[in-house]
Amino acid sequence: RDHLKAVGQLNSRINAYITVTEEVALGQARVADEKLASGDAPVLTGIPLAIKDLFCTRDIPTTAASRILENFVPPYESTVTSNLLRNGAVFLGKTNLDEFAMGSGNLNSAFGAVENPWKRKNDDAFLVPGGSSGGSAAAVAARMALGATGTDTGGSIRQPAAYCGITGIKPTYGRCSRWGIIAFASSLDQAGPMAKTVEDCAILLQSMAGFDPKDSTSVDRAVPDYRAACNRSLKGLRVGIPEEYRAPGMSSEIEAIWQQGIDWLKEAGCEIVDVSLPHTKYGLATYYIIAPAEASSNLARYDGVRYGRRVSGKSLEELYANTRGEGFGTEVKRRILMGTYVLSAGYYDAYYLRAQKVRKLIYQDFMNAYEKVDVLLTPTAPSAAFAKGEHQDDPVQMYLNDIFTVPASMAGVPGLALPAGLNDQGLPLGLQLLGRPFDEETLIAVGSAME
Ligand code: GLN
Repeated sequence: RDHLKAVGQLNSRINAYITVTEEVALGQARVADEKLASGDAPVLTGIPLAIKDLFCTRDIPTTAASRILENFVPPYESTVTSNLLRNGAVFLGKTNLDEFAMGSGNLNSAFGAVENPWKRKNDDAFLVPGGSSGGSAAAVAARMALGATGTDTGGSIRQPAAYCGITGIKPTYGRCSRWGIIAFASSLDQAGPMAKTVEDCAILLQSMAGFDPKDSTSVDRAVPDYRAACNRSLKGLRVGIPEEYRAPGMSSEIEAIWQQGIDWLKEAGCEIVDVSLPHTKYGLATYYIIAPAEASSNLARYDGVRYGRRVSGKSLEELYANTRGEGFGTEVKRRILMGTYVLSAGYYDAYYLRAQKVRKLIYQDFMNAYEKVDVLLTPTAPSAAFAKGEHQDDPVQMYLNDIFTVPASMAGVPGLALPAGLNDQGLPLGLQLLGRPFDEETLIAVGSAME
């Protein structure tokens, strides 16, 4: 009830939730009370969570922040949310995002922007919460939920976590099932937890992760005890600092927070090692070929015939055009155009196929680095939260926000973003830990020591 009260007080300003499911939440909370009384209470019993509105939830509207799915009510529950419910969680509602998870500021939602709960000192400017999981990040930061789910295709858990001063984990690709999550770029999409602390994220990930025969890319591997990894000793752990992440023109506040992270880990007994990930500079360019290509294919299903919004026309062709013309926002249309272009005959080899080859090189960079080190430390984003209006008319400027998060997505390796301090204006800055495939435990161990 306290969390619902906070939602009632704050949501009209922050706009973190698209749908608040008060009745459902209170019903689940009553069941939780009974379970607690009976002593048969799984780990998340009664824990109030916010669910990114990209996860299909049975009988609860699931919009992907798009007009085209405005009235879509799924008849099924995603695997990740089923896992959370099975462990006793209470769902407060569905959180705002960039339409189909495409964006870095939560400015592309058909249901309006989300306001970052943080403000610059002596300045009332509307700051973005990051994106695309901006609603989830803002809900946790403003205490409108104890934890949340996000999805990360190129940084959508980690960058909003950094902008809102919270913690988030993008697990290894294949760790959490994608079944029932509305697809953006299927070879990159991963679900993950967002919460205040590393330990909270570890507890949530424990429930979210696991093999699912309904997702052919989910991996059949035992889920370790993530919580037990918190506060492990870091003595002798090798931490890599990738030189290519010292992007030219990096701001001094980001440089300073990175150095502070290095100093903390030295004090904790880690060995700091300089490493090179030479193909980093191609990360963004290849991501913005592969992600739109897969998106253009995934979004072909929204045709006005099978489900979602339909805008009729004089012919079938016109029905498609009208439905998609009215249903999709500008950024989604831009991605579909880019994606169909790079996949079209004559350009496929030059763009899509080449990007796939470079992707392999990016992956190989990480594997080479992990022969020398156990984990990498980098900044999460190139700046603190920016104001609404900045970067808004320039999609390429917006894409540059993903410079530190995209390479790990391309390689499929896990990443953890955690708050590391405040800048001069009082805004949170984040650090990112990147690990070996399926070694979320080391990220949790290092992250919990840095809190
Ligand atoms: N900002 C990136 C994009 O717009 C990443 C989004 C995401 O991870 N879903 O594609």
